[in-house]
Amino acid sequence: MNLQAHPDDLPRHQGQRRQLVELLQSKGISDERVLEAIGLIPRHLFLDSSFEAFAYKDAAFPIRASQTISQPYTVAFQSQMLALPPGSKVLEIGTGSGYQAAVLFAMGYKVYSIERQKELFDFSQRILLPLGVNITQRLGDGYKGMESFAPYEGILVTAAAPDIPKALLSQLSIGGKLLIPVGPEGEEQVMHRIVRKSEKEFERQSLGNFRFVPMLEKVAKGNL
Ligand code: SAH
Repeated sequence: MNLQAHPDDLPRHQGQRRQLVELLQSKGISDERVLEAIGLIPRHLFLDSSFEAFAYKDAAFPIRASQTISQPYTVAFQSQMLALPPGSKVLEIGTGSGYQAAVLFAMGYKVYSIERQKELFDFSQRILLPLGVNITQRLGDGYKGMESFAPYEGILVTAAAPDIPKALLSQLSIGGKLLIPVGPEGEEQVMHRIVRKSEKEFERQSLGNFRFVPMLEKVAKGNL
């Protein structure tokens, strides 16, 4: 993991990040690698510059293609719940702005990420490359996972699924964990953590309510 200093990441942003880290700690995030990663990744670069003032508030925010960058608490919570050793392979569904992927990378994971909207696939690459965030990105349908690099020790879904996609379960390593918000579109969803106990056995845990944009099927129209 070798992040590059960015000319638009100024001391005041670093100060705002320290405050955000303290806020997340007060909300119960205690994993040092998560806190350190949030302290390192310049979230303001993932928003259009006119919205910079909102970058270090603990809130979700609109990005392109009618999508949202997840709330920092949600990013931290999902990342903390993965609890895997550095070097583990983690697949993210829903690259969006690329922020969650950057946090996972800064935590020392080998990161793979899928996005169904071409605009966001391109946008996230433009931000991640100059930061030195080196991950494998694909334009595709997250319902199918990313078979070519499976199995994964962790799969983190950042869009709300109506139920648990079978392909994602099959791409987990034994002992691997899937974090996924499950529930209907437009309502709150329940975060699930599913651990693969053996080839056929999965253990499921509910971790509280969250609100995500929907996980939609197939690559978005006009994107191919
Ligand atoms: N992780 C993102 C949050 C993005 S919001 C971030 O840190 O900014 C959810 C994203 O999931 C959106 O970009 C949306 O286009 C994408 N998405 C929805 N359904 C998908 C699917 N089936 N496959 C891949 N991406 C999907």
